[in-house]
Amino acid sequence: MPIELNTLNIIFGLFVFIFGICIGSFLNVVIYRLPNKISLILPRSSCPSCKTIISPFALIPLLGYIFTRGKCQKCKTKISIQYPFVEFLCGILSVIVFFKFLNPYIILDSFPILFSVDFTHFGRFHYSGYVPFFVSLWLLYTGIPLSFIDLKYKILPNSITLPGILVGFAMSCLNPDLGWLESLIGIACGAGGLFFISKFYEYFRKKEGMGMGDIKYLGFIGAVLGWKGVILTLFMASFIAAIIGIIWAIYSKKGLSAAIPFGPFLATSAFIISVFGNDMNAYIYFG
Ligand SMILES: [Zn+2]
Repeated sequence: MPIELNTLNIIFGLFVFIFGICIGSFLNVVIYRLPNKISLILPRSSCPSCKTIISPFALIPLLGYIFTRGKCQKCKTKISIQYPFVEFLCGILSVIVFFKFLNPYIILDSFPILFSVDFTHFGRFHYSGYVPFFVSLWLLYTGIPLSFIDLKYKILPNSITLPGILVGFAMSCLNPDLGWLESLIGIACGAGGLFFISKFYEYFRKKEGMGMGDIKYLGFIGAVLGWKGVILTLFMASFIAAIIGIIWAIYSKKGLSAAIPFGPFLATSAFIISVFGNDMNAYIYFG
């Protein structure tokens, strides 16, 4: 999708990027606080080393890290590169999702209708681009914290995956390409199918292959992408995980049994499929 660099696209792109890095900044808080059972709103963020409250200036997404040169202002402890990385990732992927499904003209076209009292025009409001846009953003903004929490703590919290299923199902009801039935089959396929594979693996290898967290997460992905999408996600995630797993086994010299969390692979694959799935459909024959 080549994006023309005109003023309107640049302004909207920048706005979406700033919105994305702000969400990323919040997701950093989620990644840090959710597994440690700290409230997401209070207390204010403090340096993990010297407990000094971080100044609002240093909290500005991306810029705060650059201004402070990645160090606590007081004790000079290094701040993890994960913070600006998550913010940047969130910003840039939000921009890609925006231009994939929407553009400034669609937004400007819907504005008068959204804000008019005259509901006779409401039928003119096409939400066809908005539903896949919000679906991809939902997968992105849940996938980032799930990936990082899984990498650090080897868990996929219920407080993200279970609301994920509910919101995903609600979104699919509004999605003309999917519908509620396809979404329900997706949940059953994702959660149920994986539960079966996991039990199968356990029976033969005599150890746990996949956690309940992965199973709920696949239920979530099934709710959003339907059964075809969730099967495709599972295949893609396993494929990428196998390649990374082999590379990791060689480098870490721990052998193939070194457990790599599966969540990041699921998140990456589900996001890619939500954004480019329709383009892939032309190449993948489902019957
Ligand atoms: Zn400090």
